[in-house]
Amino acid sequence: MSSSASCPTAEGSSHRSADSGLASGGRPLSVAVLGATGSIGRSTLDVIAASPGEFSAHLLAAHTSVGHLLEQAHRLRPKWVVVVDPAAAAAIGATALPPGTRLAVGADALDDLVRDAAIDRVVSAIVGAAGLRSTWAAVEEGKTVALANKETLVMAGPLVMRLAARTGAVILPVDSEHSAIQQALCSGSGTEVRRIVLTASGGPFRTRPAETFAAVTPEEALRHPTWSMGPKITIDSATMMNKALELIEARWLFGLPAEKLEVLVHPQSIVHSMVEFVDGSVMAQLSPPDMRLPIQYALSHPRRLPGPARRFDFTRGFALEFEPPDPARFPALRLGHEAAARGGTAGAVLNAANEEAVRGFLAGRLRFTDIAAACGRVLDAHPFQADPTLEDIRRLDAWAREEIVTCSSA
Ligand code: NAD
Ligand code: MG
Repeated sequence: MSSSASCPTAEGSSHRSADSGLASGGRPLSVAVLGATGSIGRSTLDVIAASPGEFSAHLLAAHTSVGHLLEQAHRLRPKWVVVVDPAAAAAIGATALPPGTRLAVGADALDDLVRDAAIDRVVSAIVGAAGLRSTWAAVEEGKTVALANKETLVMAGPLVMRLAARTGAVILPVDSEHSAIQQALCSGSGTEVRRIVLTASGGPFRTRPAETFAAVTPEEALRHPTWSMGPKITIDSATMMNKALELIEARWLFGLPAEKLEVLVHPQSIVHSMVEFVDGSVMAQLSPPDMRLPIQYALSHPRRLPGPARRFDFTRGFALEFEPPDPARFPALRLGHEAAARGGTAGAVLNAANEEAVRGFLAGRLRFTDIAAACGRVLDAHPFQADPTLEDIRRLDAWAREEIVTCSSA
């Protein structure tokens, strides 16, 4: 088993740990936030703003939300703002930026700026396959990456982990489940792990009669019971495709075989995941559902800092429930297990097919139940490659996006 992040107190780890908190000279860690205007991006800026002595914003990047990005720039005074969409950037007037902040435009500019030696940690929080290229640039440069963009590992896990091993980049998970697993793994050695249990809220349709799933509307699917997130991952939580993608993410991040990965439904979203060791001991990480905690841990690792995340009030009792997922209700889960076991191009194809299917569902072209069904057909039909290059992955990503249209009308 391998992980890019070592335990804070572990000895003899074969991987270097992330830099130990404050940057050299005791200055705050300089952070690049890719996807700054999104749900994870905004929570990241909360964490940075809450600890100015620990963190500073070096670069903030977004796709089209220029107004929001400028407001963030005035608040955090980064060295750079990057607008990836040139048409959106054209709306920025000469006097819109705060003093000391420069503007760069386009995806190529972002890939260049992310390599800047002045950046200590890169928060990869762009949504979807679009996040792969800038994350790849950061890993290639040997950066410490706080990874929210699970698609990077779903699409190209083995390639990214190999690249990180070569460049010395450290990948720290932001996904709450993987952050929990990273923390729990520190209770034993890799060979002592019996299995990993990823918890899932079960989304808004955990108890809704399955025969009504075909009639689910985007509005219903966008109402998540425990987490407030961007629209794409919220739909993925309703289909449980998010958990499917997280199985694949865990497979590569922790270097564990797919058969050691399981999913357990836990409606309260308090136990963020668990590791069972060979002696039967199960280690879990608990906290109220608030992404600012795993984000902060990925920024401060291996240290722990006080921060803005919500805390438990143990004077008020609460119950924790667990139940096995129903595979008939959530067929996406089987696809996740299958893609994690097959490796190769399976993750990239499943991810691309799902991104397009979710787009189709939100636009009213696909029914809720079509999402997993069409993804399954595209996964089955794809010309599987066991050891793809990045170029193969890009080609099959594009192929799957076209194919989903045919498969969903089948
Ligand atoms: P979001 O939709 O709220 O925000 C997406 C961000 O990415 C925005 O800043 C947007 O400007 C930017 N973006 C979109 N397309 C882009 C492109 N082509 N180029 C550059 N930037 C682009 O998404 P989110 O919910 O914050 O999720 C971000 C990532 O974090 C996803 O990979 C998601 O799976 C992962 N994640 C999110 C949560 C959560 O609680 N929201 C939890 C775990 C993991
Ligand atoms: Mg998650």
